[in-house]
Amino acid sequence: MNRVICACGKKNKDKLLLLSQCCGRYLDHFDTIPAPDAESLMRSRYSAFVLGRGDYLKKTWSETTCPSDLSFEPEVKWLGLEVRTHRLTGPANAEVEFVALSRLKGQPTRLHELSRFVKDTGRWFYVDGILRTPERPRNA
Ligand SMILES: [Zn+2]
Repeated sequence: MNRVICACGKKNKDKLLLLSQCCGRYLDHFDTIPAPDAESLMRSRYSAFVLGRGDYLKKTWSETTCPSDLSFEPEVKWLGLEVRTHRLTGPANAEVEFVALSRLKGQPTRLHELSRFVKDTGRWFYVDGILRTPERPRNA
């Protein structure tokens, strides 16, 4: 169980990190180990989607934009994450652009989003995301 590879796909010297070395730290120790930057938070939120950890998604969502009803699409199978860019846009603001691949009822789906994050009392929170060019699977 402890040898599970982290779903976010983060590597250290070409080796995929284990969940326990990567997002699992933030998912399981939310109160004591905050994600150190917006990219780590974004990765851990992706892992939370994969693992169905709605509790973590809520805790890391800005109060201003967090939906009151957070539901998962149980049939989505997450296939991978690629973080394109991560940059600070202010002393307490950051943006992360990523592509997340998934499959819903056999249909490949590509989510390309620019997410915005804000830092508040030492923690990063997800604010919202802007979808980049809607990308449809080829031949669909
Ligand atoms: Zn991870």
